[in-house]
Amino acid sequence: MKHLQKTRKKRRGSFFSLLINMLFPPHCVFCDEVTYPDCPVCATCAREVQRVHKLSRLNESADGKVVWCVAPYLYEGKVRGSILRFKFYGCREHAPVYAKGICEELAEQKFLSRMDIVTAVPLSKRRMRTRGYNQSALVAKEAAQLLELPYRDILEKYKENRIQHELDRRNRAKNVRGVYRILPGEEITGKQILLIDDIMTTGATLQECAEVLLREGAASVLCAVIAVVP
Ligand SMILES: [Zn+2]
Repeated sequence: MKHLQKTRKKRRGSFFSLLINMLFPPHCVFCDEVTYPDCPVCATCAREVQRVHKLSRLNESADGKVVWCVAPYLYEGKVRGSILRFKFYGCREHAPVYAKGICEELAEQKFLSRMDIVTAVPLSKRRMRTRGYNQSALVAKEAAQLLELPYRDILEKYKENRIQHELDRRNRAKNVRGVYRILPGEEITGKQILLIDDIMTTGATLQECAEVLLREGAASVLCAVIAVVP
């Protein structure tokens, strides 16, 4: 009986998911073409969008610690379009695909044993209100699940600043200085932190956030982004 009920439930479940998939067909994360259910990347993009195994060394922190940044993709072509839809057009369903790319990269580059907590570069309160979600936190939460690590909001952006992509390299570093701080009550002494952001251009934002975390006692900070600007 129980078995039968289960089967019926399962059938009903699959009927509804079929209906949902017909009404709202899934789209490929990278090209936005309609794809098959449970298949977030179409066959063409699975072939064409290859991970690039990018490892960047950020500047040394004030106490001489080296901060690395891992990225599975370059910010160009289909990846760029995909991230823009994710960031500005509400395509939150992209997050698991990006997180998977990041985690595979972390595994291949032998970083898996160097993390205790996953966190994300925060948005300011004003940006959070207008966008409704922090795209980096969505990816970080998915990555935390895959890595079986806790996710925590550790940082806050407590000062508004100018939009980074409007500035040149030198001014980007200046623009982010002193705008992030640790949230009250967060204890990170001795912790190895994986810090996730969406895109890395000069690395100024990641560098600044890493500095704050290290200053507050983190043992190490490793950064990961979806894509690096080539
Ligand atoms: Zn595609």
